[in-house]
Amino acid sequence: MAGRIPEEVVEEVRTSVNITDIVGQYVQLKKSGKNLFGLCPFHEERTPSFSVTEDKQIFHCFSCGRGGNVFKFIMEIENLDFPAAVTKVAELGNVSVDLSTYQAKPQRPVDPKREKLFALYSDATVLYHHILVNTDTGEAALAYATQRNLNTTLLDTFQIGFAPQQRDLLITFFKEKQTDFQLLRQSGLFIENDDGTLRDRFVGRLMFPIRDEQGRVIAFSGRILQVAENQPKYLNSPETDLFNKRDVLFNFDLAKSEIRKAKRVILFEGFMDVIAAFQAGVKNGVASMGTSLTNEQLYHLRRATDQLVVCYDGDAPGMKATNRVIELLKDDQRFNLSIVTLPEHLDPDEYVKKYGSEQFQNEVTNSLETAPAFRLHFLKQNRNLDNEQDKIAYINDALQELVLVPSAVERDVYLNQLSEELHVSYTALVQQLQQLLKKPRLSMIVYGHSNNQKKKWCPFTSNRCIS
Ligand SMILES: [Zn+2]
Repeated sequence: MAGRIPEEVVEEVRTSVNITDIVGQYVQLKKSGKNLFGLCPFHEERTPSFSVTEDKQIFHCFSCGRGGNVFKFIMEIENLDFPAAVTKVAELGNVSVDLSTYQAKPQRPVDPKREKLFALYSDATVLYHHILVNTDTGEAALAYATQRNLNTTLLDTFQIGFAPQQRDLLITFFKEKQTDFQLLRQSGLFIENDDGTLRDRFVGRLMFPIRDEQGRVIAFSGRILQVAENQPKYLNSPETDLFNKRDVLFNFDLAKSEIRKAKRVILFEGFMDVIAAFQAGVKNGVASMGTSLTNEQLYHLRRATDQLVVCYDGDAPGMKATNRVIELLKDDQRFNLSIVTLPEHLDPDEYVKKYGSEQFQNEVTNSLETAPAFRLHFLKQNRNLDNEQDKIAYINDALQELVLVPSAVERDVYLNQLSEELHVSYTALVQQLQQLLKKPRLSMIVYGHSNNQKKKWCPFTSNRCIS
């Protein structure tokens, strides 16, 4: 047991901080009456039942019943014992008291296997990074990284490394450390040979560690240095006890505080985009790991912000992927969604190279589009609007889209744009839209609502009847 912190020191820390500032670093709080409310970080929920009362300096969740003072909050959320929680609160609140004699100690029993896997990944990360930045073996990889604009700061920040051609490097390293064979087998870092021995999974690849929300490495994505047939460009770790790709957002650990500061998160297509954006000074970016965005990932994001900006590649697959996010969020009222489409089909890396960091920052902050506006662009793809048939088809689709927009003012903005762009009479567009709005079956769906369970029109596909 760690040393007891004197009562007066505890009290000094408690009164030096405001619980709303401390909790606010973990939960997005909104004022409602006398209290602040947010989504409870201790159980999954969609409507906020977690409250903070500033007067009394306490928190309380009306759903799961958890509550207490600022120390209790930190103990629960960081899984710390009392002295460690006091230290953490002092740290978060910039309170200058010396608490170094009171050692932190995890409160609950830790899972020894997971801890060993974390240690394994940590060792592998250090080794790969060392090979890249300090050794002759890593020279070619380092040259490639430099050519891809990965400077020393980025290599260090993201702990980027190199898994050399030498097939048994990692397995030999861990054998010498006498690491448990079963642990190595289950780590995902190796492939099992027919004779039951292990060989390195990652060979000849630039290694990008994937970290969990606490910043611990739980997987790798390896980019091949020399493109070869039968070899994927990017190879990801398989799922393990540590790594569930549906649950992980690349860079969320580093981005969290930036997301809260900027009050929004930017979702990029891949982790290279996140790194390029980071280098350009846009540090509130994350990426899902080789999957479409999942509900689990949204759940993590929602704890940090309700403003979600999607900035996928400007090419056709990127637009398709953006469309899928709109689809995923169409009934979800947790997020205010906006979209950035980089011009000239550029990805973030290419954009930064061409136009510079400042313009990139400006683009992702100020060139935001709403979901319906994006959909109107999306529907225009592959259509030649000089061709009458294409033009009429587009107008019909566009109007169907506008039926889904709940705000009459917003609809009017788009109608004006369509009229101008397509040289069609505004009055004719309004008339046609009004006819569509009158259709009873159509009137029951709008963006961001799913207020009944009856059959409704799917706003995103030509599949007209979904339940
Ligand atoms: Zn709760």
